[in-house]
Amino acid sequence: MKFILTSELGRLAKWLRILGFDAEYYNSANIGTLIIRALRDNRMIIARRKQIGSLKVVIVESNKVKEQMKELIKKIDLKVNESSMFTRCVICNELIKPVSKEEVKGKIPAYVSETQQNFYLCGNCGRIYWQGSHWGNARRYIEEIAQRI
Ligand SMILES: [Zn+2]
Repeated sequence: MKFILTSELGRLAKWLRILGFDAEYYNSANIGTLIIRALRDNRMIIARRKQIGSLKVVIVESNKVKEQMKELIKKIDLKVNESSMFTRCVICNELIKPVSKEEVKGKIPAYVSETQQNFYLCGNCGRIYWQGSHWGNARRYIEEIAQRI
């Protein structure tokens, strides 16, 4: 395992070397080069701060997404804003826009057309969202995470 350490971790870099690890010490504010070096040499970035220059870094430890969410919420004090939920396309990260039922007619199942009133469209990938299907489970999921913190 190879490392690249940011400028504030010079002593740690030395200790890692003492222990025999390949630990590059990156004593510069040029973040672009730091990332390129890390990628090129397959080095793990070790940073002290969440923010390296303009690059924000947060370390998540769990490999389970529910735990990862909890870690994020704790570590960066991530605030889930009710009014921001379900405003973004899950697939491509674009903001979605409300559209009329007429506009999505023929693109959604008939039973959805009969039971739902509010539709949202991703202008980028064309995916259509409505309250019932995608969002019911997601809301429960978020609430469950929030309760267990
Ligand atoms: Zn999309």
